[in-house]
Amino acid sequence: MKVFKFGGASVKNAESVRNVAKIIQLYKDDLMIVISAMGKMTNALENLVNSYYKKEDWRPIFEEITSYHNAIINDLNLHEDESFSKIYLKILSQLELKLSSDSTANYDYEYDQIVSFGEILSTTIVSGYLNSELIENEWLDARKLIRTNATFREGKIDWELTQALFAAKTGVLYQDNSKRNICIIQGFLGHTDTGQTTTLGREGSDFTAAIAAWCLNAEDVTIWKDVPGMLNADPKYFNNTERLAKISFREAIELSYYGASVIHPKTIKPLQNKDVPLYVKSFIHPTSEGTTIQSDAKYDSLVPSYIFKDNQKLITISPRDFSFIIEENMRDIFEALSNCKIRVNMMQNSAISFSICVDDDEQKVANLIKCLEVEYQIKYNAGLNLMTVRHYNETILGQLTQNKEVLLEQRSRHTTRFVLRDISQ
Ligand code: ASP
Ligand code: MG
Repeated sequence: MKVFKFGGASVKNAESVRNVAKIIQLYKDDLMIVISAMGKMTNALENLVNSYYKKEDWRPIFEEITSYHNAIINDLNLHEDESFSKIYLKILSQLELKLSSDSTANYDYEYDQIVSFGEILSTTIVSGYLNSELIENEWLDARKLIRTNATFREGKIDWELTQALFAAKTGVLYQDNSKRNICIIQGFLGHTDTGQTTTLGREGSDFTAAIAAWCLNAEDVTIWKDVPGMLNADPKYFNNTERLAKISFREAIELSYYGASVIHPKTIKPLQNKDVPLYVKSFIHPTSEGTTIQSDAKYDSLVPSYIFKDNQKLITISPRDFSFIIEENMRDIFEALSNCKIRVNMMQNSAISFSICVDDDEQKVANLIKCLEVEYQIKYNAGLNLMTVRHYNETILGQLTQNKEVLLEQRSRHTTRFVLRDISQ
């Protein structure tokens, strides 16, 4: 049994839904198919929640969401399918009913109850289309299979219970060898012990695929994307990017830690634990090779990888009494960072100062300064870039720092990181 994951871009219109069916037919295996909300529907649903929560007129956004899905359904000729239409209209009326009721004060709770409709709709449509193409499949409800705690918008997985729920629901199904078995499940969704819907954090559908693979001991997982695989750099910032043909789980975790954004960071760990290989492949060229992420690290250093973050701030924090930076200061500083919910991208200490490089969120940085300014002097440089190079060599580093002022540099055996200011203009 294999797990496939199709993200929003791979189901953004009728043509792409037809393409999903074609990809499924390239294989003969049993499948667990995880699907995200169509196109940019999660963003639209976020707007919908906001307007509902603020008691504004949510109708126009609701109409926008329904007409987007209606258009796809019409194009796929599903509107003539009575049993499909019944299910589809019921989902829309459930959403409308929710929107017509009063909101609680808990924004995160309301978010999950409403934004989850994106995945419910997308899986219903894809499942309906596959049925119409005589590709037999079973629609599963992640809100009954993936058990989380009640941290809305960032549900934490109860692995044991989730595995038991998967076994109970799909065990028999996948043991049936008389035919090909295909299940369809929503990415990104879960439920609490009292049956309330939760979500796993934005872009969490990759993680759902890993959870399903872990629970079902899948043979492998394929994430179908609009890129040819994992690249060694973001084409937005670099020309001549190269595909990483084969990397280790460890390398994938490192790359995502430094900010490579091809797969959701939580995805790798469960797969590594059960040694389930992960393929990242192009849904546009489904027979091309893509990237394989697996346990063997021997190919990791073949191609250097570049990870670039712009809009960085380098903040330097020094005790006002010119004393050394010692453990107590670090404790103060990290406590303030944690309270202000600031993620440190890079840090370095010297005798009398401590420097951190962070994403430039003005509000958060202002809060941090407020927390620390009584005892510390705080200075910063803005408009900087943070560059991480894995498997570097001197030639590469020389090229990268040309016309750049290096404000901070750190090297380990495999990784070099720079905080840079562009001085070319
Ligand atoms: N639909 C959700 C999002 O856009 C989950 C996902 O796509 O992975 O964040
Ligand atoms: Mg998505």
